[in-house]
Amino acid sequence: MTNLATQAAIKHARAHRDDDLRDLFTLLSQPSISAQNIGVQECANLEEALLNDAGFSTRRLDAPGHPVIYGEWLGAAGKPTILFYGHYDVQPPDPLDLWQSDPFTPTIRDERIYCRGVADNKAQHFSHIAAVRHWLRANGSLPCNVKIMLEGEEEVGSPHLDTVVAAHKDLLAADFVYTSDGPVTDARYPEIVFGVRGLLYVELFATGANRDLHSGHWGGVAPNPILALSRLLQTMIDDQNRVLIDGFYDSVRQPTPGAKAAMDALPFDTVQTIGGIGLTEMVPPAERSYAERVMFQPTLNIAGITGGYSGPGSKTVLPAKASMKIDMRLVPDQTPDEIWEKIRAHVEKHGNGIEINRLDGGMLPSFTPVEHPLADIVRAAVAAGFGAKPISVPSAGGSLPDSVWTQTLGLPSFLVPYGAPEQANHSPNESYRLERLYQGIETSIHLIGLLGE
Ligand SMILES: [Zn+2]
Repeated sequence: MTNLATQAAIKHARAHRDDDLRDLFTLLSQPSISAQNIGVQECANLEEALLNDAGFSTRRLDAPGHPVIYGEWLGAAGKPTILFYGHYDVQPPDPLDLWQSDPFTPTIRDERIYCRGVADNKAQHFSHIAAVRHWLRANGSLPCNVKIMLEGEEEVGSPHLDTVVAAHKDLLAADFVYTSDGPVTDARYPEIVFGVRGLLYVELFATGANRDLHSGHWGGVAPNPILALSRLLQTMIDDQNRVLIDGFYDSVRQPTPGAKAAMDALPFDTVQTIGGIGLTEMVPPAERSYAERVMFQPTLNIAGITGGYSGPGSKTVLPAKASMKIDMRLVPDQTPDEIWEKIRAHVEKHGNGIEINRLDGGMLPSFTPVEHPLADIVRAAVAAGFGAKPISVPSAGGSLPDSVWTQTLGLPSFLVPYGAPEQANHSPNESYRLERLYQGIETSIHLIGLLGE
């Protein structure tokens, strides 16, 4: 049973959808392109005004890059605290000629709002702000404490997020972090994501002679750097796709029984999933399911290889150098530092002089147990807001800086995408279903209500 105060907040939200749309449109009409530093300050000002209007007290957090906005409502002494995270910066709208309406003029067509940044991430974090506003207008107070942090650099890789969070640990203290971003996998199922894989990216360089050579004069005499990279690769991964680097799997944690059960309960079909990319079977090992691979297994992926001649026709050349990029997706408790040491040692031992460099942008994996007691509250809120039981995804296959919450702050972190798969994040004609805006606002209202109980 939904309690009376929650019901009042829901009723208020339903009666004031036009106000929500108007305020969301104000945010959307303000470009905030972090990569080009267009309108970011102006959008930060609008966000702060919106938070103040909703009833938050706000401040800017000291940060080297674009403004980080913090808001809080802490009037529920002794009650739990949510920390909402969102980002108000957006991707550049290019290519402009593919947009059916102006990218920064929010336009409703077919029950969807079209605008750059509407799905990623303005409408999603707006849902939390609106929820607080409806609660306070309907009831005068919240039954739990709410903090919110809005970042302006997510679309350029959140380069300062960890520094800012680490410098404000006390201010950001909470019981859990709740983020609504990205789309669910299948619009029929609301979704809670409990973790992400980490990332380590490296580049390898093989060199031979001091210039490209005539293959007739020097073939069989001078070393071939492409061959050297291929030989090294053979020592790194076997025909069952097992990574052969010493100790690569040492820190891999077995998924908990709850995580395994959640994975098995996912309503996605492997055959259908790989059919979507034109395949009928996966690479070995045969015994691992699609979900198990992307959630609980680390990978070593060859992202690209360059060297020699690959233009039209034939050029009989023996290249002087070749290079290769490798990305590795990491799972708990692997760390980029640990795996970097291991791959570096491997290349030193087997690489015959091949050099290896680590690229910026590595990320720790992150993990919140699906059995966490707060997860039941989140599930109940999502079920009430979306009218369907959510699925629990133990880990996303991709990487996000989620470890700032789970490791730097030491909190459980729930990623609850309010968006749908067809919303075209980062693409022309990005859009967001009106229905999901209202469902998202009501989910956040239920979350606040349930947490207060
Ligand atoms: Zn994005």
